[in-house]
Amino acid sequence: MKENDILYTSTRSDTEKITSVQAIIKGIAPDGGLYVPERIPAIDVPFSELVKMDYRQLSFYIMSKFLTDFTPEELDFCISRAYDEKFDNALIAPLVKAGNMFFLELYHGATAAFKDMALSVLPYLLTTALKKSGIKKEIVILTATSGDTGKAALESFSGVAGTKVIVFYPKGKVSPIQERQMTTQESKNTFVCAIEGNFDDAQTGVKSIFSDRDFNELAGRKNYLFSSANSINIGRLIPQVAYYVHVYLRLLQSGEITEGEEINVVVPTGNFGNILASYYAREMGLPIGRFICASNENNVLYDFINTGVYNKNRKLKLTASPSMDILVSSNLERLIYDLCERDSSKLAGLFDSLAKTGTFSIDESMRDKLASFWGGYATEAQTFEAIGQAYREHKYLIDTHTAVGYFVYKDYLESTSDKTKTVIASTASPFKFPGSVLKAISGDFSAYENLDEFEMLSKLSEITGLKIPKSLQGMAQKQILHDSVCGIGDMKQFIARTLAL
Ligand SMILES: *Cc1c(COP(=O)(O)O)cnc(C)c1O
Repeated sequence: MKENDILYTSTRSDTEKITSVQAIIKGIAPDGGLYVPERIPAIDVPFSELVKMDYRQLSFYIMSKFLTDFTPEELDFCISRAYDEKFDNALIAPLVKAGNMFFLELYHGATAAFKDMALSVLPYLLTTALKKSGIKKEIVILTATSGDTGKAALESFSGVAGTKVIVFYPKGKVSPIQERQMTTQESKNTFVCAIEGNFDDAQTGVKSIFSDRDFNELAGRKNYLFSSANSINIGRLIPQVAYYVHVYLRLLQSGEITEGEEINVVVPTGNFGNILASYYAREMGLPIGRFICASNENNVLYDFINTGVYNKNRKLKLTASPSMDILVSSNLERLIYDLCERDSSKLAGLFDSLAKTGTFSIDESMRDKLASFWGGYATEAQTFEAIGQAYREHKYLIDTHTAVGYFVYKDYLESTSDKTKTVIASTASPFKFPGSVLKAISGDFSAYENLDEFEMLSKLSEITGLKIPKSLQGMAQKQILHDSVCGIGDMKQFIARTLAL
């Protein structure tokens, strides 16, 4: 072991210390906890040097700090396969200024949502990790999706030798375009099943399969190994840290900020992965003042940040920002771990309470450490109004998720008058949710009401003069290849059938 090597440990116990290779393969810890780096590495290259790097080089730098058991050649291989022509913008994640706000567009990858930023690299990290550890098993990625992760996982693992992907999504609770993106996925190693339940049911189902020892052994005998592409996998999380450093450097480069100046970030949040990546960036030394956590009407995180009580005992609402329709925000566990000073037994107690009663509350000292987080939320009406306003006032078209961030940012400004330069994470292309966006920007929606979502896509392009992203073109004509539906109790059977266990 070298001095700078980083090992990973579960949030719920500290008996096991494993390498990043092992953590990426396992996805989730056997005790149900999430893997976290033992310490967060510091940025140890001056910004004046980092600023010269392009996205790939920067991503290499950040990832090499965390994934210390990958060789430079291996990381370089993974990164160059990930951030290539699949992205329709050479900057990978361009920064756009609209009024006095900055939007970091994270949706230029293969599926037009920010999940591509991490998922385009994960299959290579995972297959490299398997090779390095001499595992000859075929990896089976089990994924629960609220809409965007599913397609991004299918697309990124499609055709990757030695892997299969099985995606579960909540039937009728993702957008028609999201559903079509998944059900038309070609290639033999991809499988999709709708479940009769919501996202939390799907996520809970997948998590319980990971910790089902007998079922894992059964799969193992057939030479399969389950792993996760959800943001609980640290191989998803670490690549996301890079774009927060990237955005800081671009702001420096364009003279919008001076070195050392703090910025704020606004992150439309569901499973807490994206915003946690920004927090890890600050732990590395990036000057971030406030983390503005934006929720939709499923405002569990808003309540948590404002009261210290996490309570999932409420009805999940279906909103126009479906990728944030989540009540159990998995990655919050990693932040809580830091808030309780990495005391895994204290954390285990809180999450035990969450499992048993659906709620937990944090003490005063933990709340103090949460001070740099600001929680806000947008109602459905406010989300639609935000899209209309951004378009009218700034000629900038945003999707429903980003609109939640935009609204919450304005709310933040009103209540704090904080003038810090602020970056809003723009998490999906507006063309991914054309019905909602069209409705929000047109004064009279009645003319479009009878169009289906695919016709609305063309209409949106016609009205705004903006081009439909390549990945969303021609979808209405594609053949549906996946039409399985199962109950929430039958996910295991679906997997068993698919893999002939
Ligand atoms: C997944 C997703 C989010 C939420 O991101 P988390 O990392 O789960 O908090 C927000 N917007 C879009 C478009 C997404 O796909």
